[in-house]
Amino acid sequence: MDYLPVFLQLRFARAIVVGGGRVAARKVDLLAKAGARVTVVAPALHEDLRSAVAAGELTHLAESFTPAHLDGAAIAIAATGSRDVNSAVSEAARRRNVPVNVVDDASLSTFIFPAIIDRSPVIVAVGSAGQAPVLARWVRERIEAILPAGLGALARFMGEQRRSVQRVLGAAARRAFWERIVRGKAASRLLAGDERGARRAFEAELLISQLTTSAATGGSALGEVYLIGAGPGDPDLLTLRALQLLQQADVVLYDRLVPAEVLERARREARRIFVGKSHRPHESHTAQEDIHELMIRFARQGLKVARLKGGDPFIFGRGGEEVEVLARHGIPYLVVPGITAALGAAAGAGIPLTHRGLAQSVTLVTGHLPQDDSLDWRTLARPGQTVVFYMGVGNLAPLVARLLAAGAADTLAAALVERATLPEQRVLRGTLGAIAELGTRAGISAPALLIVGEVAAASAATEPAATPVAGDTAADLIQPI
Ligand code: SAH
Repeated sequence: MDYLPVFLQLRFARAIVVGGGRVAARKVDLLAKAGARVTVVAPALHEDLRSAVAAGELTHLAESFTPAHLDGAAIAIAATGSRDVNSAVSEAARRRNVPVNVVDDASLSTFIFPAIIDRSPVIVAVGSAGQAPVLARWVRERIEAILPAGLGALARFMGEQRRSVQRVLGAAARRAFWERIVRGKAASRLLAGDERGARRAFEAELLISQLTTSAATGGSALGEVYLIGAGPGDPDLLTLRALQLLQQADVVLYDRLVPAEVLERARREARRIFVGKSHRPHESHTAQEDIHELMIRFARQGLKVARLKGGDPFIFGRGGEEVEVLARHGIPYLVVPGITAALGAAAGAGIPLTHRGLAQSVTLVTGHLPQDDSLDWRTLARPGQTVVFYMGVGNLAPLVARLLAAGAADTLAAALVERATLPEQRVLRGTLGAIAELGTRAGISAPALLIVGEVAAASAATEPAATPVAGDTAADLIQPI
C-alpha cells in the first residue's frame, strides 16, 4: 500500500490553494464542501473563483506565492501551470509539515486526491497511487452504478435512529439489528423513496428485536417480495434497482424469458427456482397459483424473494395478479419496472416506435389468439400508428389476416424481431402481406415480436451498428419491402 487512505476533518481549517485557474477552482470547490476556510493565492482569478470571492466564500490574495502564506495552514494545494512555483509550494509545505498536493504531480505531493463518490455521509474514495487516474475513475463509475442514489438518505436515517436503538438494545443485539435493517425492508423501502414505509418497517423490526430474547438469531417475521422486470434479455439492460435488489435476495423465482446472464447477477448464495412460463401466458391456472404459493411461503419464512420476469412485470407479465395476491395476504412488495420487449426490439432493430409524420401513437397488443381476441381490429388497422404484437409468432397468419380484413394495406411495413437485444437477435422486414410467410420460412420462433406500421420500414441503415454483445445475424435476413 503506497498511500494510507484517510478522511480528513477540515471544518473551519485554513486551506491554501496556490493558483487561480479552472483546476484550482475545482479543488477550492472540494475544500469548501468539506467546510474548510479557503485562501487562494494567485495574481489573477478564474471567473468561478471571482464569484466565490464576491460571495464571501473564500479569501483571495492577489500576490505571488511566498512560504509565509502557509502559516497556520492545515492543508496546501498547488495548482499553477508553473513547475517552479509548484515546487516552491511543495518544498515550503514539507518543511512545515503541512500536507501538500501538487495537481497532477505525485512526486511533489505528500497526499493525492482520490476519485470520489459522494453520497454524503457515505463517501467512497478510489485511488491508484497516482499511477492510473483514468482507471481509478473507471472503477469509481462501476461502483457508482451499483450504489443506490438513496444511500446518503439511508445513512442519515440510520444515524438519526442510533440513539433510540442504543437505549433499548444491548451491544450484541444492536449489531444484529442493524445488519437486518441494512439488508431488510426498512432499507429497501427507504432506497425506493418510501420514507413512511421505511419508518414502519424499522419500528416493527425494533419491536421484534426487543421481544426476541436471542435477537442475534431472530429474524423478522415477514419477508418481502420484489417484482422485478429483467428487461428483454441483455443483462446490461437491467435497471440499477433491479441489480441492487437481486443482490439482496434470498430466493429468486424466475421465468423462462430470463437468461442465465441475468440470473448470474443475483446474490451468489440466493436460491434460484425456475417457475417457467411467461411466453405461454395461458398455461394451466395451477402453474400461476403455484408461483403465488411459493412467493407467499418464502415471504412468510422471512425471506426476501425476487420474482424476476422478462421485460416489464406489468406488460403481459401477470404482475398485476401477483401484486393482488401479495396485497391480499399482507405481504410487502416492491415493483421494479423493466425495459419491455417492444422497447428492446425497437432499439435493437433501429425502429423508432413513434416518428414524426409516420406514427403518432404506439399500441402494445397481445397476439395470443384466439383467447384474447376482444381486440378492436379496425382501430389497430388504422394508418399513422405503430402496433406491436407480443406472443404472436404462433399466430402470424391469422393476425395478419385480421388486420387486412379490418382495412390495413397489405403494402404496409412490418417487421419481426426475434430474441431482441440478445446476441442471437434476428430482424426480418417485409410488407404486412408477406411477413407471415417470411417469418415461417425463416423459422422465427418465440420470443419474438411483430411490429406493424410505417416505422417498421426504417431503413436497415438505421439499425444500430451491432451493440457490443450483438453477434448480428439480422443483416442477412433483411428483406426488401
Ligand atoms: N413482460 C414481458 C412480456 C412477456 S409476454 C415484457 O414486458 O417484455 C412474452 C412475449 O414477450 C413473447 O412472446 C414475445 O412476444 C415478447 N418478448 C419477450 N422478450 C422478447 C425478446 N427478447 N425479443 C422479442 N420478443 C420478446
